[in-house]
Amino acid sequence: MTLHQMGVAELARALAGKSVSSEELTQHLLARIEAHRSLGAFLQVDAEGGLAAARAADVRRAAGDPAPLLGIPIAHKDIFVTTAQVTTAGSKMLANYRSPFDATVVARLGDGEPGGLPGAGAISLGKLNCDEFAMGSANENSAFGAAHNPWDLRRVPGGSSGGSAAAVAARLLPAATGTDTGGSIRQPASFTGITGIKPTYGVCSRYGMIAFASSLDQAGPLARSAEDCAMLLSAMSGFDARDATSAERPPQDFHAQMLQARVGASAARPLAGLRIGLPEEFFPASLSSDVAAAVRAALAELEKLGATLVGLSLPRTELSIPVYYIIAPAEASSNLGRFDGVKFGHRAAHHGDLTDMYRKTRAEGFGPEVKRRIMIGTYVLSHGYYDAYYLQAQKLRRMIADDFQHCFTQCDLIAGPVAPSVAWPLGRMADDPVQTYLADIFTLPASLAGLPGMSVPAGFGAHGMPVGLQLIGNYFAEGQLLHAAHALQQATDWHLQAPPST
Ligand code: GLN
Repeated sequence: MTLHQMGVAELARALAGKSVSSEELTQHLLARIEAHRSLGAFLQVDAEGGLAAARAADVRRAAGDPAPLLGIPIAHKDIFVTTAQVTTAGSKMLANYRSPFDATVVARLGDGEPGGLPGAGAISLGKLNCDEFAMGSANENSAFGAAHNPWDLRRVPGGSSGGSAAAVAARLLPAATGTDTGGSIRQPASFTGITGIKPTYGVCSRYGMIAFASSLDQAGPLARSAEDCAMLLSAMSGFDARDATSAERPPQDFHAQMLQARVGASAARPLAGLRIGLPEEFFPASLSSDVAAAVRAALAELEKLGATLVGLSLPRTELSIPVYYIIAPAEASSNLGRFDGVKFGHRAAHHGDLTDMYRKTRAEGFGPEVKRRIMIGTYVLSHGYYDAYYLQAQKLRRMIADDFQHCFTQCDLIAGPVAPSVAWPLGRMADDPVQTYLADIFTLPASLAGLPGMSVPAGFGAHGMPVGLQLIGNYFAEGQLLHAAHALQQATDWHLQAPPST
């Protein structure tokens, strides 16, 4: 197997066994990244910094450093601030923005936080394309151009973590970071045939993650297997005093949790006793038949592994769309107030008084989707409309979360599709925001409830494009999710399929 086909766990073993050095691996991947520039996955490649870090990792390894991801190349969605490179959030507003600190997730995966615990030792090869301020489902809202789906370059890779998904699917990187506010890890993972997990809200620190909708934003890994996701998530997660919504829990070993055998399980039936709930609303008539067939096939495999399928209902699934598209823009309109041309980021070159400077700066710096959301958000928070929209949405959000808790009295995990269709052609939905919003229907409920969710490759649908199975767990059930996904991946090879050109 060539180096770029190997996942995180295999690479960790190869590096430990000294059959390859981090420098060789990094050189190999940098050459691939260069050869696949037209994919639009990277916004910046840090070849020099990556190679220097790889050499340093090789020296550390020779000295017996046990860091779990030592010398493994990854890259970060360009919404995590980094000192090594500019952080743009996919926006002209931050085209030249250099952060004075690293995001907690970046530090923990890499060299560790200043004055804190040592990091996992992964090396960063750069920053990955994404929708502007993570607003989008196709990566077409990036101010720096679209990213392409490696399975069909004329199709979108999904979004907003589209660059992360494209890079991992195209075997340019074994893994990457992403963020998920309403589906932005799960949906691009699904569209590109890789594995991604959005943990429970509060599991990964949001410190240094440029804010979109603070009550929803969560970081997570995109990789090719559940095992690789578990390794990254263990390194990126954990309490952080600098994020007021960080969950105060001891550090978790998600890899060990993933391997933890269920009581009553056997080698042939590792999921014996696991109840998987299927909400009827996740299988509407409008669901593409190719997606439905792939998801059903994956569910049949889970059944073979011992799981029991339970029919149930999440009656407010459809309402997740209006609820999310009120709450997320409301929070965005507040969070994006800081981009005013005064403290950092873009400032209009020509302007009159202060108000004119604000106006021109924001008109020039933000793209159309971001402006649309700021206007919607400002409207739903304004006097006279707050009660009618924002408050109603908050009440419904609570009810959606309660619906899940009711389901979890009848099942351990919930399953369904990630998206109603496979990846669509570039440009097709670009002028129709509502159509794009509607396609978020299956990822938004778990986001609003703050629950962990995963996308696991489940074969292929129309045009030979990948389909993802979504698995949703109860709060802090990441280990259980990863366990089920890993069992599925031990028994099937959907996650091993690579795009034709790789
Ligand atoms: N597609 C959703 C949106 O546009 C979700 C984005 C995300 O999760 N960052 O808001």
